[in-house]
Amino acid sequence: MRIGYGWDSHEFKPGIPLMIGGVELAHDKGLAGHSDGDVLLHAITDALLGAVAAGDIRSYFPPSDPKWKGAKSAIFLEEALKQVARAGYAIANVDSTLILAEPKIGPHASRIQARVAELLRIKPGAVGIKAKTPEGMGTDNAAIAHVTVLLEKKLPRKKKAKRKIHPAKRRK
Ligand code: MG
Repeated sequence: MRIGYGWDSHEFKPGIPLMIGGVELAHDKGLAGHSDGDVLLHAITDALLGAVAAGDIRSYFPPSDPKWKGAKSAIFLEEALKQVARAGYAIANVDSTLILAEPKIGPHASRIQARVAELLRIKPGAVGIKAKTPEGMGTDNAAIAHVTVLLEKKLPRKKKAKRKIHPAKRRK
């Protein structure tokens, strides 16, 4: 088994779409970033990469590369899934905590859970989505995500059973 942890934060800016967990939420501000600013998918990507000691999101998608401007964060996640598979692991479960003042995540949590599960190709029941407001932290203009993942070693495929050959047909 392997455990992974990821963290990310992005600042709110007016007039851009708010993407969290691959879901667009109705809000007057979105998260600024070189990509689509999806703080949750970035933290999941780092948690997955960390679990297989395969670097971090920046080592695959440097923000300095104009290629990733406005990129969908699902692309980053896809690379992390590839690294997890390459290392011979599968996701057991993912847990997350979002910290943001607004909008309230509760009403959207099941939609985010379903989308993250779909992107990770696991069951929604294996994806924890929790949210808190940043009491006393002074980070009301930011969204923060903490994520842990647990990976299990993929079982090797069963070898095909050898066909039994009737003794009379065996080559001598
Ligand atoms: Mg980020």
